[in-house]
This record gives sequence, structure tokens and C-alpha cells, in this order.
Amino acid sequence: MSGMPLEKSPMSAPAGRIAKLADQCVQCGLCLPVCPTYALDRNEAESPRGRIAIAAALARGAVDATSALREHLDHCLGCLSCENVCPAHVQYDELLIGTRALLGPSPRRPRLLLALIERPALLRVLRRLGDRVVPPRWKAWLTGHLRATSAWRAALSGMPAAAPTVPLAAGSDERPQLALFPGCVASVEDAEAQHASLRLLRAAGFRVSVLPAFCCGAMDLHGGATAAAERAAQRLRRHWQASGAGRLVSVTPGCLGTLRHALPGVSVVDPLELLASHGESLRFRPLPLRVAVHVPCTQVNVAGTDGDMLRLLRRIPGLEVLPLSRPPHCCGAAGSHQLEFPERAAQLREATLHQLGALDPQRLLSSNIGCRLHLGAATGTLPSQHPLTLLAQQLELD
Ligand code: SF4
Ligand code: SF4
Repeated sequence: MSGMPLEKSPMSAPAGRIAKLADQCVQCGLCLPVCPTYALDRNEAESPRGRIAIAAALARGAVDATSALREHLDHCLGCLSCENVCPAHVQYDELLIGTRALLGPSPRRPRLLLALIERPALLRVLRRLGDRVVPPRWKAWLTGHLRATSAWRAALSGMPAAAPTVPLAAGSDERPQLALFPGCVASVEDAEAQHASLRLLRAAGFRVSVLPAFCCGAMDLHGGATAAAERAAQRLRRHWQASGAGRLVSVTPGCLGTLRHALPGVSVVDPLELLASHGESLRFRPLPLRVAVHVPCTQVNVAGTDGDMLRLLRRIPGLEVLPLSRPPHCCGAAGSHQLEFPERAAQLREATLHQLGALDPQRLLSSNIGCRLHLGAATGTLPSQHPLTLLAQQLELD
């Protein structure tokens, strides 16, 4: 890909914006200790500061977009731990999205697999068919015969054995205050959490509209597929406006950033935030269980609801809540990263698995379906669920 043409002098508006964002970096290096890819490689080019320098050089046309430079940018997990600690308030997320948009989609992007994942109706049909016609031992055989770098192997390894739950039907309460966005993979593989969220929010007094299930465009936006991301954003705006609600909620923290990007000025929040602030009347039945709580990067750095989640879980009498400490800052899932770079994703997962082994929990909780699938591929029989699913299961009925 050497010599790939980028907007050179005079700089295009997007390239100029990237250069301006990059100039905010004072190169202090305070972001390096929180960057998972820097911890993995100990290479400046795999750090936030290194990536900002690469983005600036590309935007100014000072270097060619070689495959080596591009790969350093593609390895970024988009976890935003760097943005969270940056004293100069560098808008790293915008810079990364803008640079990837300038470069266009990566050649490593598994287009066919992503097209399937982003279509929940098709994904659901294939999952049901797969469960019927591919017995588990065939799945193990197939997985074992695919290359370690194969996106399909990574996707098959993370696929749960159980058939997906019946999806949440689109519909609305009268005069809804909230619109619930089901998403794509989450609407199929985490339908239980969607049902749980609806039940808890209604129990806390909210009127909710459920939007149809479709992809928010996060994987396209972060993968440089700008036109596809914009189509997803337009679809979201149409459904949001038709809902008549005042706030949008998503049970998947990994979608929140993209939803906010598509709906500037709209309050887009994690239901855990609303339940923590408006759910004082909710009562929970006791449950004597040791649960390890994995906190996804986006729940800390985008949703900001890690504290709300832990406070709500601690209201279940008898529940032993064991949060996994940070670092490690990322389990390696990171949207499509686990499909594009499965070997790196597996390396990044090791520290989280080590912590889990030490805690010896009876169940794993994590709010991001991508993290749960990625961790589940390596945790064998340890059951896992969304924290909202557990809260709804323990909800005391009047
Ligand atoms: S912490 Fe912020 S200013 Fe410092 S090197 Fe990192 S991105 Fe640049
Ligand atoms: S978003 Fe995460 S992986 Fe990417 S540079 Fe920042 S800290 Fe590192």
C-alpha cells in the first residue's frame, strides 16, 4: 500500500482538522502507561503519542501511508483510556476516526463477516440454522482447521452454545420518555439484557419505546467505512425522531460513542445510570453467589457508569461482587479488533483471564457483549451474563 494518495498540500478540510487535533498533544507521555497496545509491544508507534504523530504526518502528507504505518493505527483498540487521562484534552477519538476515514477501510477488514454481523435478522437465522446443522464437535473441528489469524475462526470460537433468546419486539409505551436502541450483535446474543433493561426501567417508572434492531455503525465508523457509517447514522436519526422520546438508551456501552456521534445534542445514556439515579424503590431478592465483574473500557471511558453498576449490584443481598481491577485496561475484544487481529486480541485477553482464575468466580458479569463473547471463548464453562440480566432476575415483584 506504499504511496497510497492522501490529501497533500493544500490540506483537505478533514486532513487539516486531524493536523489541528494532533497539535493539541504536548507529548508528555502520560497516556503511555494506560495504553494496552503500548503495554503489549513497548513500541512508541503502538502508543497514543506515537499514533498521534503518525496521524499528523499522514494528514500533512509528510509520509506515505505504508502498510506498516497503517497497521500501527489499525492496532488501536479505541478504548479511549488515553483520552481519559490526557492533561491537554486531546480529542483522540475524533482524531482516530478522522484518520481512519482518510485512509479508508483496512485491507484486513473481514467485510463479509462484518456484513453478516451487522444484520441482526440474518445473524439470528444463521445462528438458529447453525445450532441445528452443526453439532458442537463439528464446530470444534472446523475451528481447529482454520488459521489462527482467521476472523471466521475468532467468530466461531466466541459463538455461544445456547440458541439466542427471543428478540425484544419494537413498540412503544404511551408518551415514551426513553427510546431503547437494541443494536445488532447485542439484539441477538444479548436479547436477555434488552428484556432485562426494559423490565427494570419500567419498574423504575420510565415509559419506553423500543426501536427496531439494526447496527449503529460503530464498526464502520471505527474501520474507516465512512459511507456505511453515515447510512447507519441516517437510519438511526429517522427512528429516533419517530420515537418521540427524550433520551436514548443502549445496554451496550460500546455503542454509546457512535450513537452520540450520530445524534449530537441528544442525551444518550446507559440504563445503569438511570437505574442508579431513579431506581431507589427497586428491591432485589437475595442471591448467595460469587460474581466477577469485568468492566469494559467503554463503560469507564464513554458511559462513565462503572460506579453505578457496582452500587446497583451491591444492593442484591448475599451477592459477592468482585470487580476485576484495572489494569489490564482492555480484554482485547474492542469491536472488530478481535476479528481483525485475533492473535493480538488473545494476547491482550491473558491478563484478564489470569485475574479471573485468581478470583475463582461462579459467574462472570460484563456489560459489553463483544467482551463477553471474546472472554467466553477462553473461559469454557464459566457462565456469563450482562449485569442488567442479573439485576432483573433478582428484582422483587410487588
Ligand atoms: S497524555 Fe495527551 S498530551 Fe500527553 S502525550 Fe498523551 S495524548 Fe499527548
Ligand atoms: S485508544 Fe486505547 S489502544 Fe488506542 S492509543 Fe488510546 S489507550 Fe492505546
